Amino acid sequence: MMTFQSIIWIAVVFYSALLGGLLTVVAHRLPIMMCQTAGQRFNLWYPPSHCPGCHTVIAWRYKLPILGFFISRGVCHSCHQPIARQYVITELTFTIAIAILFALYGLSPTFFSLSALVFFGLALALIDIQYLLLPDILVLLLLLCGLTTNYWHTFVTFDQAILGGITGFMLFWLIDLIHKLITHRNGLGFGDVKLMAALGVWVGITGVSLIMLIASLTAVGYAIVTNHRSHSKTFLHRKLPFGPFLLTGGLVCVLAKPYLPFFIGALTS
Ligand SMILES: [Zn+2]
Repeated sequence: MMTFQSIIWIAVVFYSALLGGLLTVVAHRLPIMMCQTAGQRFNLWYPPSHCPGCHTVIAWRYKLPILGFFISRGVCHSCHQPIARQYVITELTFTIAIAILFALYGLSPTFFSLSALVFFGLALALIDIQYLLLPDILVLLLLLCGLTTNYWHTFVTFDQAILGGITGFMLFWLIDLIHKLITHRNGLGFGDVKLMAALGVWVGITGVSLIMLIASLTAVGYAIVTNHRSHSKTFLHRKLPFGPFLLTGGLVCVLAKPYLPFFIGALTS
């Protein structure tokens, strides 16, 4: 006999796998939709997913989130060419992240808010890594989710959320402007400035500086660690997508915020 708790767990895994499937579609198709020329017809559902090798349309059972990859044994059912693993890895990562959030917060408003943050965060990070692009529509939806969440003071008060959004935008816009004036080169993209405004709404004015600290440290660390693989002479001249580091900072800040007073107290005592 299944308990109520196990039924809820199955529902949560089902919900996260479905959202994970939608996430891969958005991350894969949205940048192509943005770059298409007039007259082209490409959207989230058209043309139907097909094998890049033999162009056979993929049957619905092979498109099921996570399961589809294992049913097809990771190959196209027509030409047996391997299917890219990035989709199933994304779906699995998202499902595991949502399962952890459910274990931590249960079926609460915090759980659904954080699901939205992880969904839009992962979609933006994947697109930025691949295309150096942060689509406005996803940044705007992330901002609106943050505003809605904090309207009920979930992570910070609504006033703090508004101030966080304005501060994040102004601070990054100023940094970008100063960088351009000094180096005559583009530093941060304007997409990063808008993303910082969206994340500022989630964490409030005090969280903005913490996001900047985490994002800067992780970006510099990543650049140093991966520098030997780069063909550029110096890592300062590499084009690095900054969105994933900002989003990591945002997520860490939101999750760690309740514990921050404890850590700050322990450090200063
Ligand atoms: Zn094929």
